[in-house]
Amino acid sequence: MSEQRASYSGLVSFMRQPAAHDGADFSGADVVFAGVPFDVATTNRPGARFGPRAIREQSLQLAWGPIWPWSFDPFERLRAVDAGDVPFDWGRPSEMAENLAAHIARVLAAGAVPITFGGDHYCTLPVLRAVCERHGPLALIHFDAHRDVEQGAGEGRIDHGIVFSEALHEGLIVEEACVQIGIRTAYPGEAGQGMSIIDAIACHAMSARQIAAKICDVVGARPVYLSFDIDCLDPAFAPGTGTPVPGGLSTHQARAILWELAGHRGAMPNFVGFDVMEVAPPYDAGEITALAAAMLAVDFCCLLAVDRQSA
Ligand code: MN
Ligand code: MN
Repeated sequence: MSEQRASYSGLVSFMRQPAAHDGADFSGADVVFAGVPFDVATTNRPGARFGPRAIREQSLQLAWGPIWPWSFDPFERLRAVDAGDVPFDWGRPSEMAENLAAHIARVLAAGAVPITFGGDHYCTLPVLRAVCERHGPLALIHFDAHRDVEQGAGEGRIDHGIVFSEALHEGLIVEEACVQIGIRTAYPGEAGQGMSIIDAIACHAMSARQIAAKICDVVGARPVYLSFDIDCLDPAFAPGTGTPVPGGLSTHQARAILWELAGHRGAMPNFVGFDVMEVAPPYDAGEITALAAAMLAVDFCCLLAVDRQSA
């Protein structure tokens, strides 16, 4: 493990992992972190462009060795790199999608798993394009208050409410292998009716173990992408987001679901990518939203590392 230092001290990278510059070679890495400071596709309040920096900053509070309840430090088992933020010209927002997809393609070509910090949820779309290019059509585990299957797919819209209808339209995800968790908004449209939904009421009635079992049933053995919109969490736990909806999951519930996924080792999902999106620090309180996002990304790393020995 890297040298211990106070959480408020030193240069900032995610979990104090080595930082790489633009164009760095990712060969030998198991996971590559990158931020996407982009919130042009929001329908409500902007601010997610500040998410990646806040998530990195809060991760420093967690960079103290073994992670509870996993009982190991995932970064003793995984070689991780923080690739900084995906660059784009703010005057050409469509450039973001091209640059992000190219970044993810480089990560995948190196044999690493991409872990992406938003940015608004539109940022997931270019990631899915690159991951599908590499692994074929994907299963999806999607935590969100919203289904993000608005109408208008195929029309080139830059809209965070359209990401999964667009992904279906483009054939990036397999409808019957998609599960959406924590949903508590209505979607009258046609898109995505074959997806499984564990809505917020179901989440509150089910145990984390039951939810994890259902997730494993839906995604099966396909390559799985896990996308976590932080507004899946209740505004009490994640106020720092652009489109909050009351009645969501607690941070503990979400963590417990990831933990329980590791308990289904025989059927543990074949993860090929992860993101946490929609952290908007201007509305946060006590940095709890960014801290929750950092924690979830670390839990995901633990999931990847659970059956590994030291790197
Ligand atoms: Mn979303
Ligand atoms: Mn949402």
